[in-house]
Amino acid sequence: MRDSLITLFLFCSFQIVGGQEAPAYAIVIHGGAGNISPEYITTDEAAAISAKLSQVLEKGISILDSGGTSLDAIEAVIRIMEDSPLFNAGKGAVFTHEGKNELGASIMDGKTLNAGAVAGIGDIKNPISAARIVMEESPHVLLYGAGASRFVASHGAEVVDSNYFFTEKRWKQLQRQLKKKEVEKYGTVGCVALDKHGNLAAGTSTGGMTNKRFGRIGDSPITGAGNYANNNSCAVSATGHGEFLIRYTVAHDISAMMQYGDLPIQEAARSVIHEKLKDAGGTGGVICVDKQGNIAMEFNTTGMLRAYATANGEKVLKVFE
Ligand code: ASP
Repeated sequence: MRDSLITLFLFCSFQIVGGQEAPAYAIVIHGGAGNISPEYITTDEAAAISAKLSQVLEKGISILDSGGTSLDAIEAVIRIMEDSPLFNAGKGAVFTHEGKNELGASIMDGKTLNAGAVAGIGDIKNPISAARIVMEESPHVLLYGAGASRFVASHGAEVVDSNYFFTEKRWKQLQRQLKKKEVEKYGTVGCVALDKHGNLAAGTSTGGMTNKRFGRIGDSPITGAGNYANNNSCAVSATGHGEFLIRYTVAHDISAMMQYGDLPIQEAARSVIHEKLKDAGGTGGVICVDKQGNIAMEFNTTGMLRAYATANGEKVLKVFE
């Protein structure tokens, strides 16, 4: 089944926000935007991705449904995706030009606007947890490289040998890109959520781009570019060509259009992805949720792996468009 769309109705659970009925919680996940079409992804791979996204969504639902925080849901969900070789994050991270793995992640709390991020790390199993440690245990927002690893390890993050990140598939991808002398983007993971306490949060984790060089850092660990959350507007996780997502501060721009321009979430996301980013030549996508549980999932690439669920029982999962 190429277009795997699952919509189930489970039960109804509402809260009143500003006089409107809104879902008590909502969660959205993505597994990256890019050349996601039957031409590039086999039927078996699509089935595996679909099963993993479904497992991940259930995990998020169970945390949010039992009153857990959006931050807890996001960390748990992204950890599962990082532990899977299917996505370009954690275990499945792509290789740099030199044949290394340099991972990055960020997390943001929409209630406090606290944020944490790590970049250029190659020995921490779950970068999203590292990002949360930076947010909660340090006075900083972004830590890089060996120093970041040392700090998060001293606060309990699991350290792994760099060989842990080796996968045959990503190695072959690098060999192809080395021949073509190109960099390739695909497969970053992200999650945004609204919890029953009315708080938004966002998280993003990546291996970056295959064949990247010279300590290149993309948008995923940059707060406001690849990740942003603000209870006054929305939570956003982005994926795609990082250089454009940074220059156009895509995640924050969507939030700003809502906050200052009063735009609904779908319009803000659509305008940034299909107008501003596209006109600039940037490719990518975003997942977003607002305080009312409204959801936007927009991309200007062939596809974006994505899924969402709300407390009113709606579940949607899409591998191919
Ligand atoms: N945005 C990531 C980067 O540029 C790549 C991706 O989303 O697939 O590092």
